[in-house]
Amino acid sequence: SEHLLPDAFTLSPIGIIESDYPDKFGIPRQPGLAPAARARLVLTPPYDDPLAVRGLEAFSHLWLTFVFHQSPERWTPLVRPPRLGGNARVGVFASRSTHRPNRLGLSLVELIEIDTRRGVRLVLAGADLVSGTPVLDIKPYLPWAESRPEARAGFAPEAPPQLAVVFSDEAAAALAKRPEGASLRELIVQVLAQDPRPAYRKGAESRTYGVRLRDVDVRFRAEATEAGTRLAVVDIV
Ligand code: SAM
Repeated sequence: SEHLLPDAFTLSPIGIIESDYPDKFGIPRQPGLAPAARARLVLTPPYDDPLAVRGLEAFSHLWLTFVFHQSPERWTPLVRPPRLGGNARVGVFASRSTHRPNRLGLSLVELIEIDTRRGVRLVLAGADLVSGTPVLDIKPYLPWAESRPEARAGFAPEAPPQLAVVFSDEAAAALAKRPEGASLRELIVQVLAQDPRPAYRKGAESRTYGVRLRDVDVRFRAEATEAGTRLAVVDIV
């Protein structure tokens, strides 16, 4: 072809995410699954100019493009989506895998508030991003053009099933002691309901897992009940 392809583009972050998720483990696999999750997108100079977000407050949802900065740069053409149990493979471009060329991510998030008192901070809900994620761009979401409920969605045709979540007496007591205990509880339930365990773990098991949310470590186990597997929060430290 006569098209000349430049071999690289230089992109620089316009801001950095500060979120309820200090670690990758436990983060829901798409945005909106844990609406109680809060994040701030802190714009960095020279993009922290309030003029650059003028009018954005009139939109309820935004697209963020960002870099999966905690993923390796190497990629392979086939990946194993958790949705398929972690064994079956699909093409990387048929997936939302974080192990992809250019490591570009795309998330639809809710815009709660824009704070322009010092620089620019966007308060967001439902983001699926680890704290420290570099954001490359923000675009307002246009539901009339971008919402297609009739679309076919391959191996992920609907939201994944959710597990029941229960709290031990110790965990409930630890929550009760915290000023923001109610919102933390809501976040824990929404995150654990997604079953953050590796895809090949399905049923009950004896091992204890830990997921970090905000400034706490939530320790949980999978238990068998007549109604199926549930996750029990053992402790919050
Ligand atoms: N909605 C985005 C997309 O489709 O491009 C992300 C989907 S990806 C499957 C979601 C997972 O990315 C989360 O569960 C989290 O573990 C991981 N993740 C979030 N931020 C990341 C980062 N900065 N680097 C690497 N992985 C990240």
